[in-house]
Amino acid sequence: MATSINARTLRQRVIDMPVGRKLFNGFAALTAVLALVIGCLFLTVARLGAANDQIVDVAAARSEAADHLRFAAAELRAAQQAYVLAWPSTHQAFDEAAGQFESSLQTLRDGAADAVAQTLVRKIATGYQTFLQTDQLIWEALQSGQPVLARNLTLGAEALAFGFMADDATSVATIAANSRADAVAAFHDTSDEARLLGIVLGVIALLVMSIASWIITKLIRDPLHRVQQAAERAAEGDLEAEADVYGDDETGRLALAFNSMLTKLRLREQSLVTEHRRQETFSKVQRALEMSDDESTALEVVGLTMADVLPGRSSELLLADNSKSNLEQAVVAGSNPDGPGCPVASPFSCVAVRSGSAVTFASSTALDACPHLRNRGVDPCSAVCVPVTFMGRAMGVIHAVGAEHHSPTTAEIEAVSMLSTQAGARIGMLRTMVRTSEQASTDSLTGLMNRRTFQTRIRSLRRADTPFAFVMADIDHFKRVNDTYGHETGDRAIKTFCDVAKAALRQSDLMARWGGEEFAFAFCDLDPNDANALIDRIRLELAARLSTSDLPGFTASYGIVAAGQCASLEDAVRLADDALYAAKAQGRDCSVIADTDAPSGRNGSTAAVRVTEKLRSNAAGVLATLARDDDPVSL
Ligand code: GH3
Ligand code: MG
Ligand code: MG
Repeated sequence: MATSINARTLRQRVIDMPVGRKLFNGFAALTAVLALVIGCLFLTVARLGAANDQIVDVAAARSEAADHLRFAAAELRAAQQAYVLAWPSTHQAFDEAAGQFESSLQTLRDGAADAVAQTLVRKIATGYQTFLQTDQLIWEALQSGQPVLARNLTLGAEALAFGFMADDATSVATIAANSRADAVAAFHDTSDEARLLGIVLGVIALLVMSIASWIITKLIRDPLHRVQQAAERAAEGDLEAEADVYGDDETGRLALAFNSMLTKLRLREQSLVTEHRRQETFSKVQRALEMSDDESTALEVVGLTMADVLPGRSSELLLADNSKSNLEQAVVAGSNPDGPGCPVASPFSCVAVRSGSAVTFASSTALDACPHLRNRGVDPCSAVCVPVTFMGRAMGVIHAVGAEHHSPTTAEIEAVSMLSTQAGARIGMLRTMVRTSEQASTDSLTGLMNRRTFQTRIRSLRRADTPFAFVMADIDHFKRVNDTYGHETGDRAIKTFCDVAKAALRQSDLMARWGGEEFAFAFCDLDPNDANALIDRIRLELAARLSTSDLPGFTASYGIVAAGQCASLEDAVRLADDALYAAKAQGRDCSVIADTDAPSGRNGSTAAVRVTEKLRSNAAGVLATLARDDDPVSL
């Protein structure tokens, strides 16, 4: 267990080692192995040399000693025969030869190659002792004057002993020569072994170096390969492809840096996806709002979007009315059909509108909660309020409530803010468009449609074949009113005439300010006589109204024509205008029905067919008529 832990620890330490140190240590180990192999080879060669020196030298010395022994033996024999034959003579030559023989014998004795050689050397030594003893006898025989005995000894036992000794010396020399040959052969064998050893050591060294190189390469390449694989997968779009971190070396730190880069990329991708979704929602809401061509459709889109971006919350859009002073619930979303029910009455009273930005409240019971939230008398809740503006002006507020202490997330607030911006822009624009269109189609003083709008509506009636009586009206002597009482009174007089006339109209009738103090009417489904009766009623009503107001009395004249009998609107206008001119010519405060069969003329002599004489009167006369007849139309 301890061993495996140590091995694992060691392995981890190797893995954690910096790449530079891995390389340095690896190549240092390889160099050590190489040095070891070279050292071993050197030692082996040195040993071989020494062995060669030792073996060959010893064998050579032995062989030489054997040869010397043979020569010394021959010299001994020769010296002995010489001093015997030359007697009287000296023993000196024999002694010198004996010295050399003994020296050689000693050499052989010290370096005998094997048991046989040793036995032979011992035998030579014994024979030599016998030879010396015999020589002593020979020398003594010569000294005692017995030369014949000496010669016989020389030729007899002495010769025999010497022969054996000489043979033994020859054998020793032969053995020594063989031994020398064996030594040379052994040297060659050792050389072969050393070569084999060198090859084996070389192979082992190569093997060790290969394994060490493989391990070093693997230690560096494997982690790099894993980082490379992870990087390739990441390049293909797999941002989860983290690299395995095995150690604390450069590759381990590279993997860590790569993984950290991936984490940042994932976060960036998430935020991009969120932003993309936000933009998508933004675009969708934008498209839906752009397709909404009236306020109610736009409010429907706002309601649906509120439900989408504020899931699980009850929300509402409060909008200011045209006076911009009252906030009213315009749309609700969420499970509560009544919405959150914020009681705030005006934009000025709304905290979010006043601050001009989104406001959140974690709890409606908190001291710093909006008073409209705290005093609402509902369960404790959280809330968010986002002002709705258009061109920098407060239009309303989007308000949502949820569980207490569960305020909307930043993303939800951003989405609501985005919605409030879009809703404010669209609803504000729709309101502006409505206002502009109203302004373009109506007369600002009276609120009546203007001539252009009236003409368009008339053309629609004609296209639909709706029968109607067309009437032109003109206030009588209006210049005098202006001149006498001023323009302001004149304006009030125009407005009063309009109020009276409008009150007499039915839903389907049209009335327009034709220009100045002139007006046009279209009485649907009425023939000129019925229209005339209706105009009489207007005249009566006007007289009655003026009798109770501070305005000066004034009347109007009318020209009537049956539109169905006219070829075009222009014709109808011309005929009604002619009839009006006729009414003016006939004394004013009356109506004339155009004779569509007679040729027209501005002098009134031909167009006028009837004048409503009966009602022409001053204000007092009108009142008297009113007293007599409650329903002038039926006259
Ligand atoms: P008649 O009975 O023949 O129609 O005489 P009149 O004075 O009404 O006609 P005239 O065309 O001479 O004068 C019309 C006047 O109406 C002239 C103009 O100053 C006045 N007027 C036109 N539009 C307005 C307006 O919007 N306000 C006021 N106060 N006066 C207007
Ligand atoms: Mg006029
Ligand atoms: Mg006039």
